[in-house]
Amino acid sequence: RTVYLNGEYLPEAEAKVSIFDRGFVMADGVYEVTSVLDGKLLDFPGHLTRLSRSLAELGMGNPHSDAEWLEIHRQLVARNEIVEGIVYLQVTRGNPGDRDFAYPPEGTPQTVVLFTQSKPGLAANPQAQTGLKVVSVEDLRWSRRDIKTVQLLYPSMAKMEAKARGADDAWLVEDGFVTEGTSNNTYIVKNGTIITRQLSTDILHGITRASLLRFAAEAQMKIEERPFTIEEAQSADEAFFTSASAFVLPVVEIDGAKVGGAKVGPVATRLRELYLEESLKSAI
Ligand code: PMP
Repeated sequence: RTVYLNGEYLPEAEAKVSIFDRGFVMADGVYEVTSVLDGKLLDFPGHLTRLSRSLAELGMGNPHSDAEWLEIHRQLVARNEIVEGIVYLQVTRGNPGDRDFAYPPEGTPQTVVLFTQSKPGLAANPQAQTGLKVVSVEDLRWSRRDIKTVQLLYPSMAKMEAKARGADDAWLVEDGFVTEGTSNNTYIVKNGTIITRQLSTDILHGITRASLLRFAAEAQMKIEERPFTIEEAQSADEAFFTSASAFVLPVVEIDGAKVGGAKVGPVATRLRELYLEESLKSAI
């Protein structure tokens, strides 16, 4: 595979980053994941806007213009012949010197890394037909979840706990309400209304979420942005989640309770189709 590191396209084995890099020793960095379908980038402007915001919130500059980011993404998709898959992007605060809690001086070069992962069958994921099982896990992450940092240990722990409990993923719960999934935004459907937690610093502002809610509103579907509990989700007609790499995937079991008779419902199915169809129209 060809990867991108600080201005160069390199074979992955030749891409080396310092052991002192703040991304490595302090998780001081942000990332984005953009999915690729038919060799094109989905929701790309949204991912760039969120990247800029994440960087700004951590007092980091944006090392590239939007046009440059697009060119790097396109180069990697082309060089690695990605038809279906993802492009991963990470920017860290760099650091050529000793480990220190204080940030390095302004002007210190950031570390910019991008790589691709080919995922044939991403759009035709059979889980869209069978649905997934989730379990609830207490949300113990820090309270700036709106910043897409590489600090992903707790979501990994929650995912491992879900697997150990025989589920596919965890839904995180804080003060009795679902915040989001380990790596996705969460929804329920009741009497045709799509219910999802409102945006705040408690959750990541999903790019797939934003597009899906826009497409759903355009299709005259009812949307309510508010928190919901695990109990409400268990008794909902449907449950599902969204992320750039999963698009829309149904959830048919929550903490052992079957949702919607354990069958994938019509709303999640329609929303997945709607998202794939509409987001491909603006893919670049
Ligand atoms: N919440 C969290 C915690 C995530 O990690 C992700 C995906 N990275 C999402 C939500 C979904 O965001 P997006 O639709 O932009 O992939």
